[in-house]
Amino acid sequence: MGSVHFLCAKCEARLAREAGGPARPCEFCGEPSEVVAPPENSVIDHCAACGHIELYFQKDFNRTTGIALVVLGSIFVPWTYGLSLLGVTILDYIVWKIVKNVIVCYRCQAVHRGYPENPALKPFDLATHDRHVYGAAPPGAEEAHR
Ligand SMILES: [Zn+2]
Ligand SMILES: [Zn+2]
Repeated sequence: MGSVHFLCAKCEARLAREAGGPARPCEFCGEPSEVVAPPENSVIDHCAACGHIELYFQKDFNRTTGIALVVLGSIFVPWTYGLSLLGVTILDYIVWKIVKNVIVCYRCQAVHRGYPENPALKPFDLATHDRHVYGAAPPGAEEAHR
């Protein structure tokens, strides 16, 4: 199920809209919002909340993932005793496989979850982030970063 999580423009409450659902005003302050989650299986090439086209992807480490990790970790403990480095490597690999990417907007930090990966997007880039937060980066800063 695709969904978008974004902050209310007025009260900054975290709001969630699911694919196929209608636009609704903010549940907390009533501020009108036109934001709807893109349809299932859309390729996300712009932010569903603010329309911005600079997005990045990152692993979806939320609370559920954290709990799953603890559970996985405890399953692996008996096997990895004395082999902890190998265990961590395996665990890392498994986590990498099960944790999906989410697509995040540089401008408003809206999170798009449950959509196919867009190969055009890049992982989080600090220089791009800084440019959104602090304004224009010095020329060449983004290239130098890679
Ligand atoms: Zn609000
Ligand atoms: Zn946005």
